[in-house]
Amino acid sequence: MIQAVIVGSGIDEMPEFQAGYVENIETRFGTAEIIKCLFLEKEIVVLPRHGIDHNRLPSQINYRAQIAALKKIGIRRVVGVCSVGSINTKINPGQLAVLGDFIDFTHTRKTTFFDTEDSSIVHTDFSSPFCPSITKALLSAAKLSGLDCFENAVYIGVEGPRYETPAEIQMFKKFGADLVGMTIIPEAILAKEAGLCYGSLAISTNYACGISPTSLSHFDVVNCVKSINNDMLNYLKNLLSVEISDICNCSSNDSLKI
Ligand SMILES: [Zn+2]
Repeated sequence: MIQAVIVGSGIDEMPEFQAGYVENIETRFGTAEIIKCLFLEKEIVVLPRHGIDHNRLPSQINYRAQIAALKKIGIRRVVGVCSVGSINTKINPGQLAVLGDFIDFTHTRKTTFFDTEDSSIVHTDFSSPFCPSITKALLSAAKLSGLDCFENAVYIGVEGPRYETPAEIQMFKKFGADLVGMTIIPEAILAKEAGLCYGSLAISTNYACGISPTSLSHFDVVNCVKSINNDMLNYLKNLLSVEISDICNCSSNDSLKI
């Protein structure tokens, strides 16, 4: 079963999450706030990526503390939910996508745990960027929920907080990216370094710049996510009912000391 969900803009305001118990987890990379919730009588940890008060920009999030905190409390199976812009017009706003690969275009973030004085040199294999077992579970939950879900999407992670320019989006399209967002990098990288099973579900909130006929705003993004909150709630309930196979190599990366 999925044990933790990392959530972003719009999803983090669901009343079901806000009814949970907030806890601060200290790690040597900093403190992370988690919420312990009960969903269908199953305990799940919700980690609001932007903080309990939603006051951190994507570049200001302490991703290392968040992943280290999940590992510290014994979490092994994690789903990162993110809002994205669609570069590929086959993914319509309001539609879900499960990530299969990523391209890192961030430039100010700590993208590794292994740069401290006492850490050894670690080069993590990324030939399978997301856990295949979690990915399968994410797709099964979409089927159970009757939701249209794009498979194997390529995500490009950008720094933000500004949105992209039309020329950038055209370049990303040529690179083979389907979706653009600001939060899965370095979250997915750190989760793999920590040996966690991590998969990501993206919610398209808009067509990316130059593809969308209108200008983009954060307000519209949050409203789009909120408009499908009932679907998401149903999706998460189905996701918690899905059995997850142990067949993956994610834990072989487990050399991180918290
Ligand atoms: Zn795995």
